[in-house]
Amino acid sequence: MEFEGSGQHHPTDDEIVSYLGHELEGEALQRLERHLTQCTRCRQEVIDAKEILRTPRRIRWPVLAPVAAAAAVLVLFFSWPQSDGLPTGEPIHREAPTELGVAPIPVSPIGSTVELGALVWTRVPRADRYRLTLFEAEGTVLFRANTVDTLAFLPDSTTLQAGRPYLWRVEARVGWDVWEASDLVEFQLEGGSQLDGTTSPKPRPGGPR
Ligand SMILES: [Zn+2]
Repeated sequence: MEFEGSGQHHPTDDEIVSYLGHELEGEALQRLERHLTQCTRCRQEVIDAKEILRTPRRIRWPVLAPVAAAAAVLVLFFSWPQSDGLPTGEPIHREAPTELGVAPIPVSPIGSTVELGALVWTRVPRADRYRLTLFEAEGTVLFRANTVDTLAFLPDSTTLQAGRPYLWRVEARVGWDVWEASDLVEFQLEGGSQLDGTTSPKPRPGGPR
């Protein structure tokens, strides 16, 4: 089955495993991420591969560590309303986690991205809802979304600058007020515009002719 938009065949299992291990770079990474945003079948492949690998919390983010730590601290200040105090008179029922990781895994975008499409993550089997949070690297929340789907689009009002790092995470609701959070992942948009304010728009390749 071919996808006209990407013009690419489906990635191999090896490529998906490499992707999950953050071993893909450059063009190969961009090609696969673009494909994942368009191909539900391959997103499912990513989910399956992840369950085989069983490395839900062990993905390494060597470059990210300081930024992620700083952002994680700030997340505490942006905690969710329903975590304010314990509800009285309601049973607190926390189910034991299954042997499989129940946290969603961010799929795309991660790392250097040419063009931002949907933010895509893996499905968590028992989750009935997801919430996405996009941060600036300093920890400011840029965007939040609640969805039952495993992807979300940024609204037009949320503009991202090329060359700046952004962080996002997604949480999955797996029980009554029980949320499993993904790792924070970083991405940045490649582009002609620089941090010094040159904002000349760059024509985007790939338009239909
Ligand atoms: Zn595919």
